[in-house]
Amino acid sequence: MHGLMMDTPLLIKNIAQHAERNHGFREIVSITSDHERHRYTVAESCARARRVSNLLNRLGCSPDARVATLAWNDFRHLELYYGVSCSGRVLHTINPRLFAEQLVYIINHAADEWVFFDPAFTSVLEEVAEKCPLVKGYIALTSAAHMPQTTLPNLHCYETLLESESDAYVWPDFDERTASSLCYTSGTTGNPKGVLYNHRSTVLHCYGLALPDAASLSAMDAILPVVPMFHVNAWGYPYAGMMVGAKLIFPGHKLADPETLVDLINEEGATLAGGVPTVWLPLLEYLRKSGRTIASLDRTVIGGSACPLAMIEEFRDQHQVTVLHGWGMTEMSPLGVVNRVNSKTSELSGAALQAHIVKQGRPLPGVDLKIVDENNAELPWDGVSFGALKVRGLWICSDYYGLDHPSDAHDADGWFDTGDVAMIDAQGYVKITDRTKDVIKSGGEWISSIDLENVAMSHPAVRECAVVGMHHPKWQERPLLVVVTDAPHDGLREQLLAFFDGQVAKWWIPDDVIYVEQLPHTATGKISKLELRGQLSAYQFPGT
Ligand code: AMP
Repeated sequence: MHGLMMDTPLLIKNIAQHAERNHGFREIVSITSDHERHRYTVAESCARARRVSNLLNRLGCSPDARVATLAWNDFRHLELYYGVSCSGRVLHTINPRLFAEQLVYIINHAADEWVFFDPAFTSVLEEVAEKCPLVKGYIALTSAAHMPQTTLPNLHCYETLLESESDAYVWPDFDERTASSLCYTSGTTGNPKGVLYNHRSTVLHCYGLALPDAASLSAMDAILPVVPMFHVNAWGYPYAGMMVGAKLIFPGHKLADPETLVDLINEEGATLAGGVPTVWLPLLEYLRKSGRTIASLDRTVIGGSACPLAMIEEFRDQHQVTVLHGWGMTEMSPLGVVNRVNSKTSELSGAALQAHIVKQGRPLPGVDLKIVDENNAELPWDGVSFGALKVRGLWICSDYYGLDHPSDAHDADGWFDTGDVAMIDAQGYVKITDRTKDVIKSGGEWISSIDLENVAMSHPAVRECAVVGMHHPKWQERPLLVVVTDAPHDGLREQLLAFFDGQVAKWWIPDDVIYVEQLPHTATGKISKLELRGQLSAYQFPGT
């Protein structure tokens, strides 16, 4: 027997309509290349999003067109989030930091019809435009006075186009499984793979993100998404922030500039900010040097790679900011787990608390997890056993977009192999120990590079670091600590190695330390261990 409840589809337009009716006055603040600080309201944003939908019709976009963006976090990108998806089309957010060949591949693979771009990315597009024959034209996200000089074909100005469109547009109802946005994720091998979100998964993820034991979002929040809008829909904040009636603060092209971020936090009263650890390292350093504060900030959501203990403690102890350590991935919309206290962990202190807060956290309702051994047998949640982490749930991809064959990342029961190795404790807190490919195997035993990096990062001389497994003639692999430091190198190696004593098992301690000017990062700001291992290919442990 079916229940007698309305069969209302879960559509992104309902987020916008709810926001416009209930939070229409709420401010959206952006830095853009043509505005030092642009301000308008949610109501104005929604009206302009409808203009975008009208514009797409006038441009002759097909009903399920992929519409690409190469853009920073700002109000125009937000309008495209809603204007494109709510008209039934697919917003394809492209990471402008990708190599030209990857851009060509994904623009062609997605068959993007139009590309909306920030003028800052003009030369990036000029380099690839000739090789993207399916693109009908390029729309610069700026006003007429700031149009770039460019050879891009069929070029238009966003503001000029929107001027002649109407605010009136009734976003249609359609199947909630209709695709809404597309984000390509780069694996370590092969071409990037497209994760195709739908309206249903996006709305459900949005509810999940807002939950008290996730980001705990409310109408009193002012959210600063530092994570780019081209990376997994900026972790869902452009949707969830609008839904709850939070103020939205977009840093535009200044997202890697700590001083601007601190200005935005203080002047706009940000209560929550989200981003990868590489964004927070320079911000904390800037705060230390300048003596400035971030008093309004209540919490930061940090994920994308492991958040070091030292960072969690510095935010907590120096700035009274709670770090919400989270884990997820592009394939998971992205949020899987968040570390928030429960009635047991709230009692922890000292070393037990430290060991606990570096964990990535508990799964959101709607995300099911398990860890398995090499034979795909499930392992216990005892906080000790570790294995391949598999997931399934309401906002997790069922396959990649446009592959010739189903991907082998899903098993026969529909579980998705995340490529991460983890342990899970009895209360469901997940601890990621490594990417499967980054695990260090020494004499047949596993060593967690993340644990070692965590210890090293809490040494005051270490600005950034990575631990990689390097070939060892006796042990097969041994850990090598690669450090970025401003401190004199004299005697530092011995100090650093001694620093591990008592913090990890003796045989985990790295065999050597080397210094680099900087570490290679991926297009999404994570340390690229693949590239680092390439750079170190000639390395040999001393005496081997
Ligand atoms: P992406 O799809 O680019 O966001 O990358 C997802 C991957 O980032 C995950 O599979 C993990 O390997 C890594 N990752 C994300 N969050 C964390 C975290 N909090 N700790 C450790 N690794 C993380």
